[in-house]
Amino acid sequence: MKSNTIADAVVIGGGVVGTAITYFLARNNMEVILVEKGAIASGTSGRCEGDVLVSDKVHGFDCRLTKLSQDLFPEIANELDYDISWTRKGSLLAIENEEEMEEAKKLCTQLTAEGLPVRILDQYEVHEDEPYLAPDIVGGMETDCDGSLNPMALAYGLVHGAKKMGARVSTHSAVTDIRLDANGCIERVATEREKFVTNHVVNAAGVWAPEIGKLVGLDIPIKPRQGQLLVAERTFSVARRKVMEFGYMMAKFQSSGYTRDVTPEMEKYGIALVFEPTEAKNFLIGSSRRFVGMDTSCHIDVLQAMAQRAIRFFPVIEDIKIIRSYAGLRPFTPDHLPIISETEIPGFYVAAGHEGDGIGLSLITGKLISQMICEQPLAITTEPLKLSRFKDG
Ligand SMILES: Cc1cc2nc3c(=O)[nH]c(=O)nc-3n(C[C@H](O)[C@H](O)[C@H](O)COP(=O)(O)OP(=O)(O)OC[C@H]3O[C@@H](n4cnc5c(N)ncnc54)[C@H](O)[C@@H]3O)c2cc1C
Repeated sequence: MKSNTIADAVVIGGGVVGTAITYFLARNNMEVILVEKGAIASGTSGRCEGDVLVSDKVHGFDCRLTKLSQDLFPEIANELDYDISWTRKGSLLAIENEEEMEEAKKLCTQLTAEGLPVRILDQYEVHEDEPYLAPDIVGGMETDCDGSLNPMALAYGLVHGAKKMGARVSTHSAVTDIRLDANGCIERVATEREKFVTNHVVNAAGVWAPEIGKLVGLDIPIKPRQGQLLVAERTFSVARRKVMEFGYMMAKFQSSGYTRDVTPEMEKYGIALVFEPTEAKNFLIGSSRRFVGMDTSCHIDVLQAMAQRAIRFFPVIEDIKIIRSYAGLRPFTPDHLPIISETEIPGFYVAAGHEGDGIGLSLITGKLISQMICEQPLAITTEPLKLSRFKDG
C-alpha cells in the first residue's frame, strides 16, 4: 500500500459524470484525484447512446437543468483538444395518432414557454423532413437545439483535459473504504493500493453509488434499469437526425393514462423507438427499459421486439442487417431526477442517478458539484436534486 496522498477532493467513478466533475474541479484550481475501479467509461457511459436532448424532458426544472447543460457542450467541446464528435442536428419525435398529436401540441406550448425552439410538423411536413417514415405517421415535434456526441470520447477528453490542469487519475483501482474523523467529517479514502487524505469525496459511481453510500452509512435509492441497443450495418441515410416516437415519453415516465398500440412484449420490455444515425453511416436502434438487476446481457426476445418497433416507423429497414447489440444499466431514481447533492456527512457529495440522461446532464453536474465544493454561487438551484428529498418524502 502506497503512503497517503493529499488532495482537495477525490471523485469516485470514471464515467461521464465523474470525469466532468474532475474536469470542472481542476478548472477551479482544485487538487483533484479521480478513482475508477476499471477503465475510464467502463460502466454505463461505455454502453449507451450519446444524445443531449431537451425535447424529451418534462417542462420546468428538468428542462431548464438540461438546457443549461446542453449550452455548455459547445464551450467544452471547444476547450478540449479532443474530438468528442459534438454536433447539433436537432431531433424529431414521431407522432402516431391524433391522441398523441394533442399531447404533443400541449408539450410544444410548454417547451416554447421555456424558450426552446420546438415546433409541430403536420403529416406532409414530417414526410418532407424524413421521407422514409411510415406513411401513416401523422406528424412530428421537432427541435433544432438537440445535439449528440461520442460518450466515450467525452469521458476520455475530460480526463485528458483535467490531467493537463493537474488532476491525477487512478484507474483499475476500486474504492474499498471511506473514513470519517471524530467529528463525522470526511477524512480519508482507501483503494486496494492507495490511501488519499481529503476533506471532499464525490460519489459518482452511477449504478454502484449505493455501494459507495454504504461505506459511510448512507442509503442511496438508485436501481439499475437495463437498456438494450442494436447497431445496424452501414447503409443509405434512412433518417437525417435522431428520431424517437412520441410514445417514448409515455414509456419513459410510465404514464398510465395512455396506451400505445404495441404488442404485449413491447409493453413488457418498455420498448419505444429510438433511431440514431451515427457518424460512421450506420445507425443505432433502441431501446428497452427493464429492471433485471445488474444483468448486462442482451436477450433475443427484447432485440426482436425493438427491431419490430423500428420497422413499424421505418418499413424500409426491414432487410438491413444488424451487426451488433449491447446493453447498459441506467442509474434510475424513483422520481427520474438525478441526485446532485451535499449530504448529512460534511464533505461527502452524491452525483449519480441520471438514468437515461447522464450524458446530457454530465457537464452541468460537473459544474454544480465543483461550485458546491468551491463554495461558489450555483448555476441553478439544486433543491429538487438533494439526496434528502427521498427521506423527507
Ligand atoms: C441503452 C442506453 C442508452 C442511453 N442513452 C443515453 C443518451 O442518449 N443520452 C444520455 O444523456 N444518457 C443516455 N443513457 C444514460 C447514460 O448512459 C447514463 O446516465 C450515464 O452513462 C451515467 O454516467 P455515470 O458516470 O453516472 O455512470 P457510469 O458511467 O456507470 O460510471 C460510474 C463508474 O463508477 C465506477 N465505480 C463503481 N464502483 C466503484 C468503486 N468502488 N471504486 C471506483 N470506481 C467505481 C464504475 O466502474 C463506473 O465506471 C443511456 C443509457 C443506456 C443504458
